Amino acid sequence: MTTTTSAAERTARLLALAGELADEFGERADEHDQQNTFPFENIERLKESGYTMLPVPEELGGLGGTLLDFVMCQERLAQGCASTALSINMHIFALGSLMENLLNPPAPSGGAEERRGPEAAATLKAMVAMLAQAKLLIGGGFTEAEIGGNWGFPTTKALRQERDGAPGFLINGRKQFTTMAPAIDLIAVNTSTTDADGEPVIGMFVIPRGTAGIEIVETWDTMSMRATASHDLNIKDCWVPEQTCVGLRAPGDADVGANVLLAWFGLSIGAIYTGIATAARNFAVDWAKERQPVLFDRPIAHFPGVQFHVAEMELELAASRALLHATAEEWMAGGLRAREDLARIVLAKTQATNAAIRVVEQAMTVVGAPSIFRTNPMQRYYRDVRPGAFQPLTNDVAKELIGKTALGIAPEFLPRWG
Ligand SMILES: Cc1cc2nc3c(=O)[nH]c(=O)nc-3n(C[C@H](O)[C@H](O)[C@H](O)COP(=O)(O)OP(=O)(O)OC[C@H]3O[C@@H](n4cnc5c(N)ncnc54)[C@H](O)[C@@H]3O)c2cc1C
Repeated sequence: MTTTTSAAERTARLLALAGELADEFGERADEHDQQNTFPFENIERLKESGYTMLPVPEELGGLGGTLLDFVMCQERLAQGCASTALSINMHIFALGSLMENLLNPPAPSGGAEERRGPEAAATLKAMVAMLAQAKLLIGGGFTEAEIGGNWGFPTTKALRQERDGAPGFLINGRKQFTTMAPAIDLIAVNTSTTDADGEPVIGMFVIPRGTAGIEIVETWDTMSMRATASHDLNIKDCWVPEQTCVGLRAPGDADVGANVLLAWFGLSIGAIYTGIATAARNFAVDWAKERQPVLFDRPIAHFPGVQFHVAEMELELAASRALLHATAEEWMAGGLRAREDLARIVLAKTQATNAAIRVVEQAMTVVGAPSIFRTNPMQRYYRDVRPGAFQPLTNDVAKELIGKTALGIAPEFLPRWG
């Protein structure tokens, strides 16, 4: 009883914080969107409020939030400023999955065994402690123009090379979409490299900002999520010591940690885009209650078409939220760890991001032509909601996994089709 009450109190406290921050950030969201500027002040507020440490246990200086807390808070934060929510998501999801890997390491479940030494585990542990104490931010550059979202096949190369007798790697390559680039302190990148026996493997590195050879190239000028500063990362002759390598695994292999990563990433991404859709729904509902053409003695809320659009939004949002929350709860109860459960995790993200696009479309229909003015936040919701379906797993890749799982076809079955 005591545990339930304190968990409920913690969730209420975290949601109140997310709401306060969302309202504050919402006042600046249009300006950052229109100026294409990065909201440094929002990131500072997130740090000072402790929000950046949401999933870290209280005894380690965090807020002790669960995956469900994270999902609920990110939905609320995105209602104020979706770009800020997406930016900080890259850090918190990484922290949440790192915490989980440290506290409950995933067991290999049929994919290739993860070849990670004890030094890498120690590096991970030290990294979490450092992130918590120094309020450092972690972000990642995995996507490349050459591979898109096929992260198992990076063209970025890490060559084993000693320097002054110390073992290390020389990294060269270029990454795209490094969200929150101006504020990241530790940059995670995936590379093609070799293990100690010279066998080709994928190497995951965490490189401190400021390391020689790392350059952020300011390419981010998009129609959506403009304030995320998701710039390119140019990595040229960047030498790093061996301890920066935190994971080695077989190329193209399904990752035994995929369930953990996609639980923390996919569900929170689904929540962010649900948040954008909720903001659009709220705006449209208020609009419908206020807008009264002179021909009628009541506002447009009394038109059946408007009521049906609002009902469609309610149905979509309730379904997405229920699925995201139920999936998070099942995860927290220790479920969804098996390889074949991955589709269930991915399904929630896919439902939520696609439904969000449909909701914003309905909301825009209610508001009508005024929604396309730059001064109307609806046009920002319309632009910002679109890339949800591009974020991993993309619709096509997700549907292949969901369909094959339902049909009892292993994702690694060859030939892939036909
Ligand atoms: C706002 C925003 C922020 C982002 N932030 C980050 C970040 O911080 N770090 C980062 O690394 N990335 C980030 N990304 C990139 C994101 O992860 C990519 O959009 C994603 O990896 C997919 O890559 P892509 O869009 O280039 O598409 P591609 O992977 O090139 O896909 C193009 C099309 O081909 C299909 N396709 C591709 N490969 C396959 C396949 N193997 N099988 C079947 N179909 C396939 C896709 O479904 C899609 O329809 C961000 C993206 C956005 C929009």
